[in-house]
Amino acid sequence: MRSDDIPANAGAILTVDLDAVAANWRLLSGRAAPHADCAAMVKADAYGLGAEQVGPVLAKAGARVFFVATLDEGIRLRRAIKQEICVLEGPRPASESEFRAHRLTPVVNSLDQLARWRSSGGGRAILHVDTGMSRLGISEAEAETLAAEPGRLGGVELAWIMSHLVSGEIQHDPENALQLARFRDALGKLPKAKASLANSAGIFLGPAYHFDLVRPGAALYGLAPVEHAPNPMRTAVRLEAEILTVRTIADGRSVGYNAQWRANRPTRIATVGVGYADGYLRSLTNRGRGYIASRSIPLVGRVSMDLVTFDVTDLPESVCRPGAMIALMGPELPPDALGALAGTNGYQMLTGLSRRYARRYLGSAA
Ligand SMILES: *Cc1c(COP(=O)(O)O)cnc(C)c1O
Repeated sequence: MRSDDIPANAGAILTVDLDAVAANWRLLSGRAAPHADCAAMVKADAYGLGAEQVGPVLAKAGARVFFVATLDEGIRLRRAIKQEICVLEGPRPASESEFRAHRLTPVVNSLDQLARWRSSGGGRAILHVDTGMSRLGISEAEAETLAAEPGRLGGVELAWIMSHLVSGEIQHDPENALQLARFRDALGKLPKAKASLANSAGIFLGPAYHFDLVRPGAALYGLAPVEHAPNPMRTAVRLEAEILTVRTIADGRSVGYNAQWRANRPTRIATVGVGYADGYLRSLTNRGRGYIASRSIPLVGRVSMDLVTFDVTDLPESVCRPGAMIALMGPELPPDALGALAGTNGYQMLTGLSRRYARRYLGSAA
């Protein structure tokens, strides 16, 4: 898509830089140990950026294995790419035939899913072993059951045995080494197969965590893989909204619902058409910021469903007029930083990006 595909009446524009996503994949792939393949996590519509656009670009960059969360996501992605697609939630009862029809690789998360995958014909699957998350994956005791009764895996081709890190982004967290030890222990008991443990953060824990396949998501989309460390990833999104109106309010007047902000001087207020219905979280009330011409402006008052307000008193009127754009997220204010202001993380800021934004995809690979 080119910029001239943006409808003239779009008040808020989300720009996705597909070159940045591809560059991030190459960086992560380069960080992975030489024998480890680099998959691409494109669940939740590629963390809100658009799996249909991101998928083919990463396939072209060299990704051969993709992960989604749900069967429906897998079916949709299958229309966009030919590469292997793995489905994290695995088959629910009676959905096994859908996996086969769309050539999706299930992640088998329980002995029950394993038994159903076998009885529906078996074949290629990923076996998930729980090492600390306690959500999905077979327990250590169940891994021992499988080791003792290998017939339960008969007819199943183990593509990988995988597990998932609890706190990979906190490098000194002792849980990392514990999980690594539990994972190695399970691998030692189970039939020999390729293995996969690392998410984005796990790649930065070093080659001991890489095994045969790494599974980055967040870092592909520019989120910082390591807490409290410089972020080597390129920001992949830019969110801008047009100023609808600018008004001057008197000292003492309030702004927005429930008067959560009050002017203490004559104040110019710029209003833009983005709100919590767009995933611009209500917790950004009196905390968010915007940027005009690289200058930071504070969000004042409550975030409404469709509107937010900024104090632009300190900027020249010539740059803060109706029609000018305020940057709400992007290189000046990355999703991680906006998430921190909102009391959450960058993941939630990205996956909540609304479908109401006009979307522009940039990149030679697009
Ligand atoms: C989401 C997810 C990932 C990717 O995690 P990031 O922190 O986004 O890199 C990897 N593996 C599993 C099982 C996941 O659910």
